Amino acid sequence: MPTQTVETPQILRGKNALVTGSTSGIGLGIARVLAKEGVNLTLNGFGKAEEIEELRRILSAEYGVKVTYSPADMSKPSDIREMISTSIRDHGSLDILVNNAGIQHVSTVEEFPEEKWNAILAINLSSNFHAIKAVVPHMKERGWGRILNIASVHGLVASPFKSAYVAAKHGVLGLTKSVALELADTAITCNAICPGYVRTPLVENQIEQQAEAHKLPRERVIREVILAAQPKKQFIETEQIGAMVQFLCSPNADAITGSSFTVDGGWTAR
Ligand code: NAD
Repeated sequence: MPTQTVETPQILRGKNALVTGSTSGIGLGIARVLAKEGVNLTLNGFGKAEEIEELRRILSAEYGVKVTYSPADMSKPSDIREMISTSIRDHGSLDILVNNAGIQHVSTVEEFPEEKWNAILAINLSSNFHAIKAVVPHMKERGWGRILNIASVHGLVASPFKSAYVAAKHGVLGLTKSVALELADTAITCNAICPGYVRTPLVENQIEQQAEAHKLPRERVIREVILAAQPKKQFIETEQIGAMVQFLCSPNADAITGSSFTVDGGWTAR
C-alpha cells in the first residue's frame, strides 16, 4: 500500500516555483505537492502539447494556483536562461527552483556512447548549474530563495553500467555544497534530495523490460531485480519526494543548507 503524505497548513502559499522535468514522474509529484500548498508553478519538460496543456489546466483549476509551462530543453543553456527570465516575468518572482529533469542510459563504460555521456552530463548536472546561475541574482535581490537539486542515491554510491549517471549525480552533490557555502550569508538555501527507486513511468518501463529479459513475473522482478538494493522492498512514491521538497522550503528548514537527504528505503544504510 502506498503511504499517504500528511496534510500541513499552506505556509508556502503565494510563492512561485519552477520545477524542471515536471511533465512526468518525480517532477510532476513535486509540482502537485507544491500546487496543493498554494504555490504557483512553472512546469517544464517534454510531452504531447495537448497533454501538457491539460495537465497545466487541471493543476491550476484543482489547486487555485497560477500554472505556466516552459518547453525549454535542459541540454541547452540559452533555453534555461530564457525559461528562468520568462518564469520571473510571468509570475513576478521565482522563489523556489527545483532542478529535477534527468535521463538515464545503461551500458558498460567501454561501450558507453559519447553522445549519451554528454547528454547525461548536460541534462543531469550542467542544467542545474545554468539554472542556479540564472536565478541567484534574482533571489539575492528578493532576499529569499530555495534551491532543491534532485540527485539520487547514485549521488552517494555507485552501480555498475551507470557511469555517466553516477558521475553526474555525484557532481550534483558537489555543486549543491559549493552553492550553499557561497550563499550561506543570505536567506537562500541549496540542498539535494537523493531518492532510491521511485515509482515513475521510467521505472515502470524497466519492470516490463526486465520481466521479459529474465522471463520472470512482474512481482519477482520488482523484489529480486529492481528493488534488490532497497531493503524496504517498496517503491518510494513521487509525492514523498514532494513532501521532502515542501519541508526544505518551509521556515523550519531555514538552517539547512548544503545538505543531501536520502529517501531511499534504507539503500545507503548497508
Ligand atoms: P521521468 O522520465 O519520469 O521524468 C523526467 C522528466 O524530465 C520528464 O518530464 C521529461 O520530459 C524531462 N526531461 C528529460 N529530458 C529533458 C530535457 N532535455 N529538457 C527538459 N526536460 C527533460 O523520470 P523520473 O524518474 O521522474 O526522474 C526525475 C529525476 O529524478 C531525474 O533527475 C532522475 O535522475 C531522478 N531520480 C529518479 C529515480 C527513480 O527511481 N525514478 C531515483 C533517483 C533519482
